[in-house]
Amino acid sequence: MVRKNEPHTHEIDHTPCPYCGHIRSCATGLDDERRPKGGDYTVCAKCGSVCVFDEQLMLRPPSPQQTQYLIENPQMLQRIMHASRVIKLRNKARRLPN
Ligand SMILES: [Zn+2]
Repeated sequence: MVRKNEPHTHEIDHTPCPYCGHIRSCATGLDDERRPKGGDYTVCAKCGSVCVFDEQLMLRPPSPQQTQYLIENPQMLQRIMHASRVIKLRNKARRLPN
Protein backbone atom coordinates (compact mmCIF):
# COMPACT_ATOMS: atom_id res chain seq x y z
CA MET A 1 0.00 0.00 0.00
CA VAL A 2 1.24 3.47 -0.87
CA ARG A 3 0.55 6.07 1.76
CA LYS A 4 0.04 9.66 0.80
CA ASN A 5 3.11 11.93 0.86
CA GLU A 6 5.54 9.03 0.82
CA PRO A 7 7.99 8.62 -2.02
CA HIS A 8 6.56 6.44 -4.76
CA THR A 9 8.49 4.90 -7.63
CA HIS A 10 6.99 5.15 -11.13
CA GLU A 11 7.96 3.20 -14.20
CA ILE A 12 8.89 5.50 -17.08
CA ASP A 13 9.96 4.84 -20.67
CA HIS A 14 13.61 3.89 -20.82
CA THR A 15 15.69 7.02 -21.11
CA PRO A 16 19.49 7.34 -21.02
CA CYS A 17 21.30 9.71 -18.68
CA PRO A 18 22.84 12.44 -20.89
CA TYR A 19 26.05 12.26 -18.85
CA CYS A 20 26.81 8.55 -18.31
CA GLY A 21 24.36 6.76 -20.63
CA HIS A 22 22.79 4.75 -17.81
CA ILE A 23 19.33 3.66 -18.94
CA ARG A 24 16.69 4.71 -16.52
CA SER A 25 13.30 3.01 -16.34
CA CYS A 26 11.85 4.41 -13.12
CA ALA A 27 11.72 7.59 -11.08
CA THR A 28 11.01 8.20 -7.41
CA GLY A 29 9.49 11.49 -6.31
CA LEU A 30 10.72 13.12 -3.12
CA ASP A 31 7.55 14.88 -2.08
CA ASP A 32 4.51 13.01 -3.30
CA GLU A 33 3.24 10.18 -5.38
CA ARG A 34 2.59 12.01 -8.65
CA ARG A 35 4.32 10.85 -11.82
CA PRO A 36 7.26 12.90 -13.07
CA LYS A 37 6.40 15.55 -15.66
CA GLY A 38 8.29 17.71 -18.11
CA GLY A 39 10.48 20.24 -16.34
CA ASP A 40 10.94 18.16 -13.17
CA TYR A 41 14.49 17.94 -11.87
CA THR A 42 16.02 14.56 -11.13
CA VAL A 43 19.32 12.95 -10.23
CA CYS A 44 20.83 10.06 -12.18
CA ALA A 45 20.86 7.02 -9.90
CA LYS A 46 24.10 5.81 -11.51
CA CYS A 47 26.37 8.88 -11.72
CA GLY A 48 24.56 11.42 -9.53
CA SER A 49 24.32 14.08 -12.26
CA VAL A 50 21.48 16.58 -12.08
CA CYS A 51 19.09 16.16 -15.03
CA VAL A 52 15.69 17.49 -16.07
CA PHE A 53 12.81 15.57 -17.67
CA ASP A 54 11.72 17.01 -21.01
CA GLU A 55 8.10 16.85 -22.20
CA GLN A 56 8.58 13.24 -23.44
CA LEU A 57 10.13 12.34 -20.04
CA MET A 58 13.55 11.95 -21.60
CA LEU A 59 16.48 13.06 -19.45
CA ARG A 60 18.28 16.25 -20.49
CA PRO A 61 20.98 18.37 -18.92
CA PRO A 62 19.43 21.43 -17.24
CA SER A 63 19.25 24.48 -19.50
CA PRO A 64 20.93 27.70 -18.29
CA GLN A 65 17.46 28.93 -17.23
CA GLN A 66 16.76 25.70 -15.32
CA THR A 67 20.14 25.94 -13.60
CA GLN A 68 19.39 29.54 -12.68
CA TYR A 69 16.00 28.48 -11.28
CA LEU A 70 17.75 26.01 -8.98
CA ILE A 71 20.21 28.65 -7.80
CA GLU A 72 17.27 30.90 -6.93
CA ASN A 73 15.53 28.10 -4.98
CA PRO A 74 18.12 27.08 -2.40
CA GLN A 75 15.82 24.63 -0.59
CA MET A 76 15.25 22.66 -3.79
CA LEU A 77 18.90 22.97 -4.76
CA GLN A 78 19.96 21.64 -1.36
CA ARG A 79 17.76 18.53 -1.67
CA ILE A 80 18.94 17.80 -5.21
CA MET A 81 22.59 18.28 -4.29
CA HIS A 82 22.14 16.05 -1.24
CA ALA A 83 20.79 13.22 -3.44
CA SER A 84 23.63 13.80 -5.91
CA ARG A 85 26.28 13.73 -3.16
CA VAL A 86 24.90 10.49 -1.66
CA ILE A 87 25.10 8.75 -5.05
CA LYS A 88 28.59 10.09 -5.78
CA LEU A 89 29.84 9.05 -2.32
CA ARG A 90 28.36 5.59 -2.81
CA ASN A 91 30.17 5.31 -6.15
CA LYS A 92 33.43 6.49 -4.57
CA ALA A 93 33.09 3.91 -1.77
CA ARG A 94 32.56 1.16 -4.35
CA ARG A 95 35.82 2.10 -6.08
CA LEU A 96 37.88 1.78 -2.91
CA PRO A 97 40.03 -1.35 -2.70
CA ASN A 98 38.94 -3.98 -0.18
ZN1 LIG B 1 24.23 9.30 -15.17
